[in-house]
Amino acid sequence: MTKNSNSKNDTVSFNYNSSKRGAKHFQKRASLFFATIILVASALFGGNFLLNSNPNSNISTVASAPTGTNLSVTFLDVGQGNCVIVESNGHYMLIDGGNSQYSSKVVSYLKDLGITTLDYIVISHYDADHLSGIIGVLNNYKVTKVISPDYESDTKTYGSYISIMNKKNYTAIHPSIGDEFNLGNATFKIVSPIKYSYEDENDNSVGIRLTDGSHSFLLLGDAEAQSESDILNSGIDLSCDVYMVSHHGSSNSSTNALLDLAKPSIAVISVGKNDYGHPTEQTLNRLLSHNISILRTDQDGTIIAYSGKDFLKWNINFDTKSIKKEATSNIPTEASYIGNKNSLKFHLPTCPNLPTAGNQVYFDSREDAVNEGFSPCGVCKP
Ligand SMILES: [Zn+2]
Ligand SMILES: [Zn+2]
Repeated sequence: MTKNSNSKNDTVSFNYNSSKRGAKHFQKRASLFFATIILVASALFGGNFLLNSNPNSNISTVASAPTGTNLSVTFLDVGQGNCVIVESNGHYMLIDGGNSQYSSKVVSYLKDLGITTLDYIVISHYDADHLSGIIGVLNNYKVTKVISPDYESDTKTYGSYISIMNKKNYTAIHPSIGDEFNLGNATFKIVSPIKYSYEDENDNSVGIRLTDGSHSFLLLGDAEAQSESDILNSGIDLSCDVYMVSHHGSSNSSTNALLDLAKPSIAVISVGKNDYGHPTEQTLNRLLSHNISILRTDQDGTIIAYSGKDFLKWNINFDTKSIKKEATSNIPTEASYIGNKNSLKFHLPTCPNLPTAGNQVYFDSREDAVNEGFSPCGVCKP
């Protein structure tokens, strides 16, 4: 989608099949007609009619991938953290894995997709809310290429990550700005950082611009103003339709300068309960003042974007939907408790963290579940 495609589609050509003079006359009358409509609408809607007061009106939702989808980008709801799954023509990439609490969710989500091999794992940087979930994925899946920033961290999580990389005999690629990679029908280019020696590790985040030729997605990890300003100065193409808001909406990221240049129409914020005030009001206001629609995983659950030649569609609250589907189709009515074959936890049928259909076992009583060696879920507390 080019930046102006919406307005182009909305522009009606009055010249079609008309004589030149007739068309001109008709255009004049038509513009008078529209001017009247706008005036009336302005009066009715308090004058905000021309200001696009609801930027979210350009989000078009669907329940599943439309035919012709070339690229899908899933912003998995992993609470406070990032986890993005990209698919194009049967090829998969995982960008960040969320924190440890959600590690099993990430692994089982990939299992549900029937994935055995990931073409790429991109680790934006080594903070736990991005790296932890990667460790489980490396344990469970074959990965062709691991892309990560060129710095080291002294955290336990980083230590576990290095161990599993060694065990699997994988060597990470530390990319340079401008490097390009293919994923199915899509490509992605490394757009940040310009160096790996920032004092703030967030600024060392590996950022990518992903595109299928029709739409582009900009994901910069937790990059902050310093790295943003350096990549803006580098002159690399940052234009995008969809921007994953850096550092979960921190006020020190997503500067006006970046938004002016990247010009996204939709922003996705991956965020959960946190003590940092993410996303901050300053960032939300900057997005709104740029007329950018906002989707957030804490409000919209798992968010999937489907890109095709002539469309960009959104599937929001994907978790809730899939759980609802299971609830109606798979749970025997007499079951009082549902166990997870893998984690050996048991849940109330209403728990938001139910296992996928294939991993469910059913118990008539709490006692049965406990006797079978299952322990109660910490969320629904059965
Ligand atoms: Zn983070
Ligand atoms: Zn971070």
